Amino acid sequence: RILNRVLDLKGNIRVFCRVRPLLSNERNARVGHLITPGMDIVKIPSARKDFQFDKVFLPSSLQDDVFLEVEPIIRSALDGHNVCIFAYGQTGTGKTFTMEGNKDQPGVVPRTLQRLFDEAYVDTSVSYTFSLSMLEVYKGSLRDLLVCQQPARCTDPASKCLSIQMASDGYIDVDNLTEMPIMDAKEASKLYQRGSQSRSTSCTNANETSSRSHCLLRITITCTYVLESHKFATTSKLWLVDLGGSERLSKTNAQGLTLEEGKAINVSLSALGDVISALQRKQPHVPYRNSKLTQLLRDSLGEQSKTLMLVHVSPKEMDIKETVCSLSFASRAR
Ligand code: ADP
Ligand code: MG
Repeated sequence: RILNRVLDLKGNIRVFCRVRPLLSNERNARVGHLITPGMDIVKIPSARKDFQFDKVFLPSSLQDDVFLEVEPIIRSALDGHNVCIFAYGQTGTGKTFTMEGNKDQPGVVPRTLQRLFDEAYVDTSVSYTFSLSMLEVYKGSLRDLLVCQQPARCTDPASKCLSIQMASDGYIDVDNLTEMPIMDAKEASKLYQRGSQSRSTSCTNANETSSRSHCLLRITITCTYVLESHKFATTSKLWLVDLGGSERLSKTNAQGLTLEEGKAINVSLSALGDVISALQRKQPHVPYRNSKLTQLLRDSLGEQSKTLMLVHVSPKEMDIKETVCSLSFASRAR
């Protein structure tokens, strides 16, 4: 709880940056950034720009290091706050690696699930229940990733029935979205993997799809406790979001469908940037309505909520333009 109070003092939007290491086939690539350990600043000498973050993860950092910094915000979700954790960045910079990870290096999602159940057992003064939903925002429409397991689901009419509803108290829900109660971390991780697979194998250009859509995991946390013989319950939402690739269109030489998909991604990412920036600057009008993504997260991005943006960049000199774009996006959020 002390950690939580520290987080409160620091405001409710944090921005971290993770620079991925050079991969084995990139050993000879030139590196385009400079990081002074302990300073949380990324310098781009060729662009003469410095970017300050709440935390910078070096290419050598491990999944453990990242989760250590993410953990307090997970705690906030258990305490009743709505929480959004976003992985942002150009395709290939490690968003999915950070969120999902792999068998030997599990990422934020499996660790979070484990953490939730661990905590639920430790704190016996309250009782928690968890449920999990997973959806994709693709070209401005929502798809249920836990129901549409067929490869042909691009044309599945069932996925079209999902619609965002706002209750009179501002609570946002998605009509017809599959919601699975989860009893342990392992089962929940399996569900996530299933959903994640159904995302990347959906359409004809299988491998491309994941970078053209946003993948959202929603964990709904219900906490019940007794105080002076009255029973209370709170519900909070924890969103773990693997965003679509932030690369600009010109570079990908996009045409036709790809162009359309790319445009949709760019629109929703800038809408998200606008919302976070408006919240950060305490502007009276927050433009939630400009994209499906921000409509969906409306009650989880704001005063009472916690937001963590994990910005991913490539270490390579040749990616420097995209890197500067991503870092600039991130500085707007700070
Ligand atoms: P994105 O989801 O942003 O498109 P990926 O997560 O698929 O990117 O990462 C691209 C490649 O780089 C993958 O092979 C991944 O395993 C590897 N990778 C990314 N980040 C790291 C890291 N921090 N350490 C080791 N390998 C990484
Ligand atoms: Mg990915």
